[in-house]
Amino acid sequence: MSTPKIVILGAGYGGLITSRQLEKSLRNGEAEVTLINKHDYHYISTQLHKTGAGTASDDKITLHIPELLKTDKVHFKKGNVQDVDFKEKKVRLDSGDEIEYDYLLISLGFDVTTFGIPGVEENAFKIKSFQSTKAIYNHILRQMAAYKEDSDPSRLTIAVAGAGFTGIEMVGELVEALPKLCRTYNIPLSETRIINIEASPTVLPGFDQEAIKFTTNYLMKNNVELMTSTKILECSPTSIELDNGEVLPSRTLIWSGGVRGNTLLEKLDLPTSRGRIPVDEFLRVKAVENVFCIGDAALFMKDEKNALPPTAQVAIQQAELCGPNIIASLRGETLKTFEYHHKGTVASIGNKAAVGKVFGLKISGTFAAVMKQVIEARYLFVLGGPSLVIKQFLKIGKPYSKVSAATHQK
Ligand SMILES: Cc1cc2nc3c(=O)[nH]c(=O)nc-3n(C[C@H](O)[C@H](O)[C@H](O)COP(=O)(O)OP(=O)(O)OC[C@H]3O[C@@H](n4cnc5c(N)ncnc54)[C@H](O)[C@@H]3O)c2cc1C
Repeated sequence: MSTPKIVILGAGYGGLITSRQLEKSLRNGEAEVTLINKHDYHYISTQLHKTGAGTASDDKITLHIPELLKTDKVHFKKGNVQDVDFKEKKVRLDSGDEIEYDYLLISLGFDVTTFGIPGVEENAFKIKSFQSTKAIYNHILRQMAAYKEDSDPSRLTIAVAGAGFTGIEMVGELVEALPKLCRTYNIPLSETRIINIEASPTVLPGFDQEAIKFTTNYLMKNNVELMTSTKILECSPTSIELDNGEVLPSRTLIWSGGVRGNTLLEKLDLPTSRGRIPVDEFLRVKAVENVFCIGDAALFMKDEKNALPPTAQVAIQQAELCGPNIIASLRGETLKTFEYHHKGTVASIGNKAAVGKVFGLKISGTFAAVMKQVIEARYLFVLGGPSLVIKQFLKIGKPYSKVSAATHQK
């Protein structure tokens, strides 16, 4: 009998932690494992807003995947997954390569949803991947450089759509970044605007009142213009039209209006619901043999009506069980059911403040910001042990750089 083949699609939180689990628990020669990812780096998605604002260096946000794999039990393949043939048990890459599997894990993450609002897909910037957020930072630099030449205020008006978790983290980071960028380009900070547009009546919908109040006060104190109960109707390269009749002259709309499962999932021959793949209590795709799905790509119902949210916390806990369940499947052993334990949520507002709840305790301000760092460190610890934590925390890069107006676009 040939060695069983396990193939993992996507090296985000879910795919990487599952790979680590398989490295730890598979016996030598028990299975061939291939981890496939678009790029040869893993990006820490929970910190992408820092790449967007330029407040963290690239090597703090991206980690070279082959260096994260500790043994030769997992083989890394760089490739863009295009399709899966579930009958033939083959994954197709856009290079034309086909990879056979006996056990498959789909952990392809999320995409951004723009609700069909005219112009958003084409003109807004998305907090979706390392490259998409790097594009935000480069665009802001180009706008600053161009402003020096034409003084067009739309270049210094940065709008963030959505004041949910990701939107607030993005705004908080911009608050921290703009003074330094203004110094670099010799532009008065008072000439810049950060506008946060949210359809709900408050920032951080779903958070408790204290968190909402703290965040609102913090942002207003830092001159962020909060436009709650406001919807975006349309966006062009140079303006944003709102439902209150206002047309904002802005060349930078950062969209954080919501996420869904990777759009590729709907092209696969599998049932999807809300853009995600329904899974059973063992994290297996229903009605397809030996196919698992976790993280933002998976729809796991916590009760009859509600699915688990797309968070790193869920993806990590699912991965910690998914590795052992894949091994149990190939050994013919009993699989364990997935139980989610919510430990809390902390949203950063720049480096110095945050709000949230950890183990039932409401926190805000500097202490919450420290807790946020602890949460990030824990993830690095799970991924690469204490050495990775120390290595990442010691990295001091050069996030702020200057581009010339010659490269200005849009
Ligand atoms: C700014 C921001 C802040 C966040 N903060 C928090 C937080 O504080 N706490 C929290 O719990 N969650 C947070 N989240 C959510 C969290 O990042 C996601 O829930 C988590 O990344 C999901 O993990 P995943 O493994 O399912 O997918 P991902 O981490 O998105 O990984 C998917 C991987 O698949 C790869 N991929 C995609 N398509 C293909 C393809 N066609 N071929 C090959 N590879 C492909 C991608 O490159 C990526 O490496 C935040 C998200 C954002 C954007």
